[in-house]
Amino acid sequence: MALASSSSSAAISSHSFASQDLKRSKIGSFRPLDRFFLPSTAGISSRKQPSLLKPISAQQKRSESIVPLAATIVAPEIEEKVEEKEDYEKLGEELQDASPLEIIDKALEKFGNDIAIAFSGAEDVALIEYARLTGRPFRVFSLDTGRLNPETYRYFDAVEKHYDIRIEYMFPDAVEVQGLVRSKGLFSFYEDGHQECCRVRKVRPLRRALKGLRGWITGQRKDQSPGTRAHIPVVQVDPSFEGIDGGTGSLVKWNPVANVEGVEIWNFLRTMNVPVNSLHSQGYVSIGCEPCTRPVLPGQHEREGRWWWEDATAKECGLHKGNISQVQVPQLNGNANEAASEISDIINSENVVRLSRPGIENLLRLENRREPWVVVLYAPWCSFCQAMEASYVELGDKLVGSGIKVGKFQADGEQKAFAEKELQLGSFPTILFFPKHASRPIKYPSEKRDVDSLLAFMKVLQ
Ligand code: SF4
Repeated sequence: MALASSSSSAAISSHSFASQDLKRSKIGSFRPLDRFFLPSTAGISSRKQPSLLKPISAQQKRSESIVPLAATIVAPEIEEKVEEKEDYEKLGEELQDASPLEIIDKALEKFGNDIAIAFSGAEDVALIEYARLTGRPFRVFSLDTGRLNPETYRYFDAVEKHYDIRIEYMFPDAVEVQGLVRSKGLFSFYEDGHQECCRVRKVRPLRRALKGLRGWITGQRKDQSPGTRAHIPVVQVDPSFEGIDGGTGSLVKWNPVANVEGVEIWNFLRTMNVPVNSLHSQGYVSIGCEPCTRPVLPGQHEREGRWWWEDATAKECGLHKGNISQVQVPQLNGNANEAASEISDIINSENVVRLSRPGIENLLRLENRREPWVVVLYAPWCSFCQAMEASYVELGDKLVGSGIKVGKFQADGEQKAFAEKELQLGSFPTILFFPKHASRPIKYPSEKRDVDSLLAFMKVLQ
């Protein structure tokens, strides 16, 4: 989901269920779980009476009494009780084959008011629909970065009206945004990466939101990003953020649609007649901030529409940075020596030239080369490099006699700093094309590393 995706913000919402009764009777196979509605809330618009629910941005202890500004759900007060320590890894395994509806129901049952759905304004609206179907009160939050598409703002409004809820928006700190924009301009992320802007506009507001919770529900799916989301569990102790009690393990992250494919989500939304963001009909799949999201073409992966000027493994905005697995950590931190020494070299072919440091420096220096080169910057331990090995060897075979040379340069370990500075290395693998008459190499921008895509890239540049 676009939370991070993904993406999100925090808002608490309440739900008036009486107005949904008619819809429920038409739900068909998505029958609500057997739940009694709260007599105190049924039929009462939460907008018309003050709520007892604490807003997500409030960081007071749960026992403190506050009147929220935006919360609209009235949920039952939950008595403080000493809870046994839950084994969430085990729970995640138990729920591995459960439906999203069952998982969300379990999350709401366990956490009550201390959990909220993170809604990005995209197809993660499915989470809200599932929550509605449980019949339990639920909370929704969203991150308003200030850079969303107008369509997304209108969509937020439509969702609030459709579900009779209020989303509690989280905003970035005005002074921090001012500092960033005044010092670096409005589009610094195109120059030096999206992390800094995302940190100010998304991650810190999210951190604030989560500090008021014990759990959050995200729309992350494994099929959204082969680079970073392939192993997300349906339930996990949040590896990155803290909840209201503070400290590691104080926040539980629920990913109820982790195992669901995008097409199934869309079938569900259509069946349930849920309103969707109008950007989807313009070719957008994953939706985030306006300057950092673009439509994708048929056949392109949805994450190719996000931060397209960066490499695949960097495509987490920080909201789900715990997704970056240990095997990928060396490429980001530069501590690859140990791992590299235990793994034998890859992409071994007589048609792929292994370049030494002086060799690639020489290639960089030339403005007029005898022939163009394509060179992959790789690390033998990197699973993405291993995954593209066969197609790169095939590329070498296909280009024999074409006038284009194919090379590889091992750019981890002590070569990493050089490769980052001089060769545009962001993460592995990075593929560069050195045209015949140009001083700077051109970086291959796509995550598609099959032979045909690579050949098409070189063809347009020759
Ligand atoms: Fe900034 Fe782009 Fe991140 Fe939005 S997605 S917070 S505009 S870098």
